[in-house]
Amino acid sequence: MREFLIAGNWKMNGGNAANGALISGIVAGVPSGSGFSLLVCPPFPYLSAVAAQIEGSAVKLGAQNVSEHESGAYTGEVAPAMLKDAGCDYVIVGHSERRAIYGESSFQVAAKFQAAQAAGLTPILCIGETLDERNEGATESVVDFQLNAVLDAAGIGAFGSAVVAYEPVWAIGTGMTATPEQAQAVHGHIRAQLAVLDEKIAAGVQILYGGSMKGENAAGLLAMPDIDGGLIGGASLKANDFLAIAAAAAQG
Ligand code: PEP
Repeated sequence: MREFLIAGNWKMNGGNAANGALISGIVAGVPSGSGFSLLVCPPFPYLSAVAAQIEGSAVKLGAQNVSEHESGAYTGEVAPAMLKDAGCDYVIVGHSERRAIYGESSFQVAAKFQAAQAAGLTPILCIGETLDERNEGATESVVDFQLNAVLDAAGIGAFGSAVVAYEPVWAIGTGMTATPEQAQAVHGHIRAQLAVLDEKIAAGVQILYGGSMKGENAAGLLAMPDIDGGLIGGASLKANDFLAIAAAAAQG
């Protein structure tokens, strides 16, 4: 009943020429079949150009961050409605790089999540533990805290039109991937936490895995019952690498 979502987070990479080549490679190679969708999240300045490049294809558009404010004196920020204007359907909120480098709290992430939804965007809420937290046995309490901040602000109903991404921080950009069993354990826990509040919503919410997912490990991760796709950084920057993950989803 849940489709796979394969989402590329380009981070602060790309440029007009590189993006054009990447998008045409992806669009040309979208695997046939159903049961999955593809999403790309370029940096802000390229959203409109990429929106035009993917028009008519099966590839969707998202942004990597959004302001929690609607409009006004917030120099350098981008409002949710502006992302809609640029053609976005999705936006990533709470990526660990935003939390760690830019000091975003779980409460600010919750505000961003709500602002995104209010503008008609689907938020992709990133949660996950650091290596120290995992080694201390705190994985579940960390993801619970990050999830509960959003549940407290937005309520379980909001997860009827949201995506969760479990991204163990120690696996992001490191080449270290959670094993399918490690990832499934946390995905299952997240879904169970949501199910306590609403079983139907919990059963429908897509929970993506993020952390060095690539063509070679995607099939094993996507075979797990509570892994509904991937949020992919490094391997989303080359069409063939991204399409290899898409192919695993198309076969799943
Ligand atoms: C990410 O930044 O969301 C991510 C998962 O990156 P990578 O795939 O490079 O680990």
